[in-house]
Amino acid sequence: MPAPVARSALHVVRRALPLLGLLMLPTALLAQSGETDAEARPDPAFMQCLDGLRADALGRGVRASTWDELTAGLAADMSVIDLLNHQPEFRAPVWDYLAGLVDEERVLTGQVMALRHSALLERIEAEYGVPRNVVLAVWGVESNYGQNYGNRPLLVSLSTLSCHGRRQDFFRGEFFTTLRIVQDGHIDADDLVGSWAGAFGHTQFMPSTFQRIAVDFDGDGRRDLIGSIPDALASTANYLKTSNWRSGEPWGFEVALPPGFNADSADRRSKQPVSTWASRGVRRVDGSPLVDSNTPAERQAAILLPAGVEGPAFMSFRNFDAIFSYNPSVNYALAIAHLSDRIGGAGPFVTPWPTDDPPISRVQRRELQQLLLDRGHDIGAVDGIIGARSREAVKIEQRRLGQEDSGRAGMKLLEALQAEAPASTGDDAGGEGSDERGSDEGSVEPPPAD
Ligand code: CA
Repeated sequence: MPAPVARSALHVVRRALPLLGLLMLPTALLAQSGETDAEARPDPAFMQCLDGLRADALGRGVRASTWDELTAGLAADMSVIDLLNHQPEFRAPVWDYLAGLVDEERVLTGQVMALRHSALLERIEAEYGVPRNVVLAVWGVESNYGQNYGNRPLLVSLSTLSCHGRRQDFFRGEFFTTLRIVQDGHIDADDLVGSWAGAFGHTQFMPSTFQRIAVDFDGDGRRDLIGSIPDALASTANYLKTSNWRSGEPWGFEVALPPGFNADSADRRSKQPVSTWASRGVRRVDGSPLVDSNTPAERQAAILLPAGVEGPAFMSFRNFDAIFSYNPSVNYALAIAHLSDRIGGAGPFVTPWPTDDPPISRVQRRELQQLLLDRGHDIGAVDGIIGARSREAVKIEQRRLGQEDSGRAGMKLLEALQAEAPASTGDDAGGEGSDERGSDEGSVEPPPAD
């Protein structure tokens, strides 16, 4: 359940909805990969729309030569409009969402990246006051540490969204800004690929966010969030700093609530002094007092209950809100916060999720998919992403095994299938290509809302 999409739209990417979205997109949509029909028939209405935008673009700092060069040959990619209009019919529970984003794989890769880029991260910490593990966590969630940041040509997606669908005004601004990014020599047009909604680079900035926030940290004169890890990570730290990150403060921590705690008071925006929460019986999850040398009694804090009073509870401070501003979803911010702790060596949450069917990691999702393929289900490739076809197969197996046919890929089904004798080698069970391709970070976010 993502938080209500917030007001200050022109920010970054709306990432958590999308990541949930990943688990919910129907086959037809995900089957349309980043490649576009650039060779498609001429589309007179689209060409006419573009011609109508030229004067606006020129008024916003795009040179005529830039416009003419970069818009020549553009063709609309209507799959982007399908994604814009898609209303997910399946919403994963928060524990599945977090289990996909914060698993052993992503923690370990984050720790490797911390070593590999330690000198860079030290400079970033010194310059922006944002801890390295938080920057790494954003990188890990947004693009799996640069392994996947979308493959749709930005100019195609954004020109399409400028001429079709709702929110054309918003996307026109992003389109013109993208033209200026190329014009100013920061990133070549051919390299400028990203999500369907226009987020790009290692940490998925929207073009307008790039204009406000991105920095050149490797000193080559270009702000290159795709080709330069220093530029991308420093820009991410600059984003958080601009969102009032408080150097030296934690985002928060897991807590234990007293019996009968009133869940109505749990809201990210409803802050009280730590001492007030302490007087209401809130403790750290290990039972120790809230107030300590790093946690002053007067600090403003909120309580978060992402799965209600029966699930894990958290105390959040101002820096949680800075993460939230990156993408206005409590679950998204919690994923970043928790991944940052885990990269730093902390363990999983202490309190279990309120379910008898615990979530599974990406490795386990791939194993489950292989077990489904072994049983002859045509789910496409094993990619760790539970899409529509995987969910259908999950339902069939759940029915066969007498489980509730929720279509949700959890530990119960995985364990039941593991316990069965191997069905086959699975060599020929799958088809070429998956209907669930894309990435776990993939290009599926809805557009920012106003
Ligand atoms: Ca640079």
